[in-house]
Amino acid sequence: DLLTEKIFQEKNRSELRIKDKALISTVENAIDRRTRLLLFKFLSTGVLDSIYGCVSTGKEANVYSAVTGCNFYTNLQIPSFLQPFACQEDHSTDVLALKVFKTVALSFRDRDRYIDGDIRFKNGYRKGSSRDMVILWTEKEFRNLRRLAKIGVPVPFPYYLKKNVLIMKFIGTNHKAAPLLKDVVLPSSEWLKLYLQVCRLMRKMYRDANLVHGDLSEYNLMYHDGELIIIDVSQAVENDHPSMGYFLYRDCKNVCLFFKSRIGEDTNFSGVLTDNDQE
Ligand code: ADP
Ligand code: MN
Repeated sequence: DLLTEKIFQEKNRSELRIKDKALISTVENAIDRRTRLLLFKFLSTGVLDSIYGCVSTGKEANVYSAVTGCNFYTNLQIPSFLQPFACQEDHSTDVLALKVFKTVALSFRDRDRYIDGDIRFKNGYRKGSSRDMVILWTEKEFRNLRRLAKIGVPVPFPYYLKKNVLIMKFIGTNHKAAPLLKDVVLPSSEWLKLYLQVCRLMRKMYRDANLVHGDLSEYNLMYHDGELIIIDVSQAVENDHPSMGYFLYRDCKNVCLFFKSRIGEDTNFSGVLTDNDQE
């Protein structure tokens, strides 16, 4: 009846307020008003149950952990172009990572280099409108993650995208993010295995997904349960991009320099290479 409904509304509203407060205290000053409203909407409509602390604050994006009770694939309307493949599993118990792209104080010129020459963004990209551009950038990361997940490259599974917020699987344990490769301590033999793993992943990305990461280094590789996870693929370019060769070269160089510092010069690769690697 009317009274119960009113009580229910009140209850909802006060619950929402508590969430609001917690949310504002963690993200205050970090994001603009429209983005904050979008996050409130996620909470009030059940896309998310709660947003936890900040995992990372970067120049271009902040990452938060969150949880949801909803199954993204049955409960939410995702535009069909974002659904290149269906996800059968129920991920509603997964911890989520929210990557919130900043709409202010960005290095635009840098981004133009990646977007220009990418045929996927020929239309709909208005230079000069920073918010539109950031939204496009978010979509680019979402699509790249989708494409990589589809062919089995280990990336955080991308669930949902809205404006400048991307929702993906959280890599880590209990809201504590897995370490980046740069912070991992391992024996030399283990580094050798990981080096080969990165090489194979780069080849798979290039051959099967037509993508070159463009910012691959020990800063964008996570190490979780003994496995590597590739992150931060918003700038990845297709392999017909005019600067693809340069990006690929730079990725190779970063990866080689890093692993050289961990493995040592006098490594014997015999015994670890497979026939497939000889190619
Ligand atoms: P940027 O480097 O542009 O700030 P990243 O995508 O590299 O953005 O994310 C920044 C940091 O957030 C990462 O270094 C990592 O520590 C953390 N992070 C990113 N994605 C996830 C994820 N899916 N799960 C857990 N932590 C993440
Ligand atoms: Mn990064």
